[in-house]
Amino acid sequence: MRPSEATKKYFERAADQLELAESMRTHLATPRRELQVQIPVEMDDGTLRTFIGYRVQHNRARGPMKGGLRYHPEVDLDEVRSLASLMTWKTAVVNIPFGGAKGGIAIDVAKISVRELDRITRKFVDEIHEMIGPDTDIPAPDMGTDHRVMAWIMDQYDKYHGFNPGVVTGKPVEYYGIPGREEATGRGVGLLTLKLLGRLGRKIAGARIAIQGFGNVGTHTAKFLSEAECKIVAISDATGGYYRAEGIDIPKALRYALEHERVLAGFPDADRITNEQLLGLDVDVLIPAALGGVVSGGNAGGIKAPIVIEAANAPVSPEADDVLDKKGVIVLPDILANAGGVTVSYFEWVQNRQYYQWSLDRVRQELDKTLNNAFEQTWTLARDRKVSLRTAAFMLGIDRVARAATLGGIC
Ligand code: NAD
Repeated sequence: MRPSEATKKYFERAADQLELAESMRTHLATPRRELQVQIPVEMDDGTLRTFIGYRVQHNRARGPMKGGLRYHPEVDLDEVRSLASLMTWKTAVVNIPFGGAKGGIAIDVAKISVRELDRITRKFVDEIHEMIGPDTDIPAPDMGTDHRVMAWIMDQYDKYHGFNPGVVTGKPVEYYGIPGREEATGRGVGLLTLKLLGRLGRKIAGARIAIQGFGNVGTHTAKFLSEAECKIVAISDATGGYYRAEGIDIPKALRYALEHERVLAGFPDADRITNEQLLGLDVDVLIPAALGGVVSGGNAGGIKAPIVIEAANAPVSPEADDVLDKKGVIVLPDILANAGGVTVSYFEWVQNRQYYQWSLDRVRQELDKTLNNAFEQTWTLARDRKVSLRTAAFMLGIDRVARAATLGGIC
């Protein structure tokens, strides 16, 4: 199943619950604008390479469209389309005044130099600068991109449109960024994991957790949860998985990754396992925080964790979702679980427009409050309507977007 079909399935389930009219379903399921561009770049060795970039703007009924930029070899238009629609529902679930968008470049960042990355990003901005802007569409980091890439985007956009720090979020703190943005997605995943454990009457101290992915989201999730006295028994990245029944020393793993080009390859003090084995571990909480589609119809039957937190976007396919549901596994959906990033991106955008520097304390406080509200509303709706947390989150998001579209006048 293609990523956009998977997202559509979740959308339809919630739309059925809302008894949404067919005409509104078609309107909300259709992206507003899709762009594919060619990015020809001279590489360090003088050769020419041509990359393909995408930006999909899904919906702007609730505000400027917002969504990350993914640099990964598997990026294609369909994946970006699916992720753009998830952003629309995500910004609505946490009730921040943004719509949804997403972009990306099909590229393996591990195989190019920093200078090449800079040139590719600036060329991409040359192609999309008329489409983005602080009042229209605001990119942010996602897989394969980070604060440096966001700084280059702001700088390149400035060459066409002048000083506009609010055109992109996730910038370095020293360069118009906001304290707490880098940790925000992982912190949110951690906070919501604790909230869900509490709601289900499960113990937090010593809860056994497996995390797939040790990038921005995975590392900050691991840090937050280990500081909350959970036991992180497994971690992984693209190089493989690492298991220790007594719990992995997370500060040590973080230091190791920093000293080894951000990868865990060769990490001592843990047994090697595969990423597939990590997914099937007998743990209290499984947190996929890397790629989409890793829990599929094929392996969902082997998931032993009673709780799955979708830190990555779309890590559980609809077939897998059905299997997990039948097994009684509670899934906290991506559009809520990883919404901490876009929430703090919103604070950064507000800060840029106010020309006022927020403190880390204020960012954390407002983030915690926003996610708490979204969790409570989703939990209550799921309980009242007897639907899964995913369907409840989609219902909340879709209903808010549909109302805004109607109030604003669609045609
Ligand atoms: P990242 O590029 O910082 O890290 C990705 C991690 O996944 C790395 O550790 C990488 O080695 C690992 N990985 C790659 N391929 C893998 C594979 N086949 N098996 C196991 N691990 C693999 O990316 P990130 O920003 O941490 O994003 C991770 C996920 O979270 C993505 O799905 C992204 O869309 C989602 N997300 C990120 C943010 C954010 O603020 N960065 C916000 C919301 C959602």
